[in-house]
Amino acid sequence: MIIKTQGVILSQRSYRDNEKYLTILTKDCGLIEARIRVFGQIKRTIFQSICPPGYYKMDLFVNKQMYYTVDTIEKIEDFFTLRYDVEKLALAGYFCELTQALVPAKEHVWVYLRLLLNTLYLLEQEKRSPLFLKAVFELRSLSISGFMPNLVCCRECCEYEQKQMYFLPLEGELICSDCMQEHPVQRNDLPILLNKPVLSAMRYIIYKDFDKLFDFSLSPVYLKQLSQVTEYYMLTRLEKEFNSLVMYKQLKTEEP
Ligand SMILES: [Zn+2]
Repeated sequence: MIIKTQGVILSQRSYRDNEKYLTILTKDCGLIEARIRVFGQIKRTIFQSICPPGYYKMDLFVNKQMYYTVDTIEKIEDFFTLRYDVEKLALAGYFCELTQALVPAKEHVWVYLRLLLNTLYLLEQEKRSPLFLKAVFELRSLSISGFMPNLVCCRECCEYEQKQMYFLPLEGELICSDCMQEHPVQRNDLPILLNKPVLSAMRYIIYKDFDKLFDFSLSPVYLKQLSQVTEYYMLTRLEKEFNSLVMYKQLKTEEP
């Protein structure tokens, strides 16, 4: 059976000189692995050019055992200019790796695909800074994957805003400084005191409609804290190392 679909290549592994396996987030089949080889319409130059985080239109052949083979493939957007900047390329790789870790294999994946494509586009076009995109992507992708923190109000007194609000990464909740004195938090949780603009930004990222997701700004000092909090929250919830994140952090230059 042939399935016509579109998808982003999240990762690839070489098999032979003229054959490799692609992990693809497809619009119609979810997250799949598909074999591609130099054959028929897939010439060697096309084969070599196909790599993460490219977005392609494709025909997939699927057999009874549900093994996928790429039959034809055509570029929609290859985000080619990202390759001129190693820092951005590493970050794009991290967005792909995080998506691969979060996306449910069979379920409706359009929401993940849309977030990933928009983030890659803004990164490539330099419409937003890498640090901004990293923070937004981390928190929003976790939120759509069942890890949405509850940032409505203090979990004890239900105040929306107190002088000092702490974020509890392990529980994904807020607690104000007054309540924290009366209600000790879990011993292994690490409360993070949030600056007001950082809390507002976190609320914005998880609750805002997708169309307006990237339409806010934050000064560099708060952006730095936001990125530290979202990354720490991600690592706490997923308990997983991301090689691409380690690489990105090694390559990263300080934001102005
Ligand atoms: Zn409180």
